[in-house]
This record gives sequence, C-alpha cells and structure tokens, in this order.
Amino acid sequence: MSTSQTLSFPSPLYGGRLTVDLQAIASNWRFLNGKTRAETECAVAIKGDAYGTGQEKVAPALFEAGCRTFFAAVPTEAIQLRKILPGAVIYALDGLFPGTHEHYLAHDIRPVLGCLEELEEWTVVCKAAGRSFDAAVHVDTGIHRLGLSAAEFTSAMTDKDLLGPFRPSLIMSHLACGSAPDNPMNRRQLDQFREITAPFADVPRSLANSAGVLMGPDYHFDLVRPGISVYGGQAIETEPNPMAPVARVEARIMIVRDVPEGDTIGYGATQIARRPLRNAVVAAGYADGMLRRASSTDDRPGGFGMIGGYRAPILGRISMDMITLDVTDVPEHLLKRGAFVEMLGPHVAASDLAAYAETIDYEYLTSLGRRFERVYGPLT
Ligand SMILES: *Cc1c(COP(=O)(O)O)cnc(C)c1O
Repeated sequence: MSTSQTLSFPSPLYGGRLTVDLQAIASNWRFLNGKTRAETECAVAIKGDAYGTGQEKVAPALFEAGCRTFFAAVPTEAIQLRKILPGAVIYALDGLFPGTHEHYLAHDIRPVLGCLEELEEWTVVCKAAGRSFDAAVHVDTGIHRLGLSAAEFTSAMTDKDLLGPFRPSLIMSHLACGSAPDNPMNRRQLDQFREITAPFADVPRSLANSAGVLMGPDYHFDLVRPGISVYGGQAIETEPNPMAPVARVEARIMIVRDVPEGDTIGYGATQIARRPLRNAVVAAGYADGMLRRASSTDDRPGGFGMIGGYRAPILGRISMDMITLDVTDVPEHLLKRGAFVEMLGPHVAASDLAAYAETIDYEYLTSLGRRFERVYGPLT
C-alpha cells in the first residue's frame, strides 16, 4: 500500500486540501537536468514518499520527464517504488539491512553500501553467485553519518579477496554544508572525494544533492541526486530560490469570531489580544503537518496563512486539529464558513514558514499529513 493513499470522501468533508503539481515537479527536474553536462545523469532523491508529495504519482511523472535513477531511503520505500517503476534503477540510500539481501535481489534494489559490514555482506552474496550484483559504495568525506571512512574505502576497493566478483555500480559521498555554498567544508569534501575516487575512474561517481547541482559543474561528476529542489524547496539558504513551488495546502474555515481586547487565544493562553480581534479557526493542525513550533506567543510571532491576498497571522498555539488566524484586516466577504485559507504554497513559501518554526522546508514537506484531500493538478 502506498503511504500516499487516502480514503475517498466527498470533497466538502475534508478539513484541508493538498494540491501537488506534477508538471511543476517534472519541470523542476528538467531545470536541474539542464544545469548539468550532457554526460552527467540527473537522478532524483524520492525518499520520504517523494518529500511528502506522494511517490505513487510523482515517480511516474519523473520517469516520463526522463529521469531513470531514483534514490529511496529505506528498503520498504524502494520495494514500493519498484512496483510503480518496473524499468527504473532504484537505490536504497540507507544501505543493506542485516540479513535482507534476498529482498534487494528479488526486487532489483541496489543498496548504497554504507559501512564495511554491509560491503562484506554484499560481496559474500556476489561470491556465492559467482557474479556481481549492482550496488553503490558510499564513502564518507566528513558528514560522519553513513559511508566507509576514506581509509576503509581505499583498502576495501583494492582488496581482491574481499571484493570477489563485486564491482560497484556507483561511488558516492554526501555534502554536509551545501545549503551554505561559502562554507569551506564544501571544497574540502570535493577535493577529498576527487582524491579518494581517482584510482577508480572507471566507476561512475556522485557527490551532489540539490545544493551541489546549483553550486556548479565541479560538483556534478557522473550523476547528481537532487531532492528538495525538485519539490520546489530552497536548497541554498543564502540565494533566492530558483525553483517553482509544487505543493499547496489549504485549510477550511470552521468559524469566524470576535475576541475582545485583553482576552487570550488557544491552549496555554500564550497570546493576548492587544486590540479587539476577529479570528478564523481553520481545520488543520499539527496532525496534518502544520508544525506546532510555528505557534505564536506574545513574545514571538508564529507562521501565517494567506486568504485572497491578505496575510492572516497565526494566533496562539497550533492545536492538533485546528489553527486560529488573525483575520481582523481581511474583508468579510472572504471569510465565509467553509472557505479555504492557503497555509503553504505559492503565497506561503515553506521556507518562510520554516523560519518561524525554526526548521527547514524539508520538514514541512515531509510532515504533510494524511488527512487532507489530495489533489494532483496545477496550483493556479
Ligand atoms: C536526501 C539526500 C539527497 C538529496 O538531498 P537534497 O538536499 O534534498 O537535494 C542526496 N543524497 C543523499 C545521500 C541524501 O540523503
């Protein structure tokens, strides 16, 4: 079962609507593909249910746009993806889980081997079969998450007894500071990756995530693996985002009411009305991925929604199922019961909301809940 599957009810019964624009996703991918040389393959990171946008619909759209290589994270995601895309190359970034190689082989999933034990487990399988099975080898250049250390990598890759018939289909590493291109760590990782992989120039190499693609050809090598930029997010924090938004969340107004000056709004009474307010309560909350950390208090503003071009700041705490918005300055005719307020999308950038919630737009996208009606279509 795809995680993006929702029950189908008549539209007015949903508290909110999530619209995903598959054309925008495809065109973002084409834009990134166009940034690389013709010899460089543009793959995609599709982990986290396509960053919350629903891989069941997104994967075929990207395949149709010309993308042929997909990076899932955990094996369950990769196997689900195989059912959707029988003809694609599929990697599992989280590598080889212990004792599970048969599943990878049965579904033609390539693990990104992230430590010596995983590499050894895979080469045993290759030796037993007398042939190589495709897998990537991940070498760590400083992020210290997954990946063989440089020393382990070099000794393993030159150890014929260890490798047996195994030949990696890809050598990869991952940038720690791509969101800040001026950080000297980027250059250091690039130089180290070049140096470590130089003796294995016959194996395709990959270093770049979205930020790496945008940082230019030095980082591209043979294959790039953008994720967030394909989904419209902001890969580089210090520059304007060149990508088109791909998702919009709208929440339904349940009631509009007056709050007298001096009264408080929401759980914990964290916000007091400094003047007589008009507020709208909408049917979306943290159970729908509207992160509670974007709540508003007297000391610290929270996120906002947009309705008919008017900004509606969040008042008080975000609850599980509802958010209270300040609509004092919004014309009454826009505030009908049942009307939608945009809570994320073309007018409410996930990266702006993320600043209020002290997080990144990746978390907003991947948190989008399962209670909204999901619609695939243009955002306009
Ligand atoms: C998530 C991930 C990517 C994609 O990163 P973005 O910043 O979303 O472009 C690429 N490579 C690895 C190893 C990842 O974990």
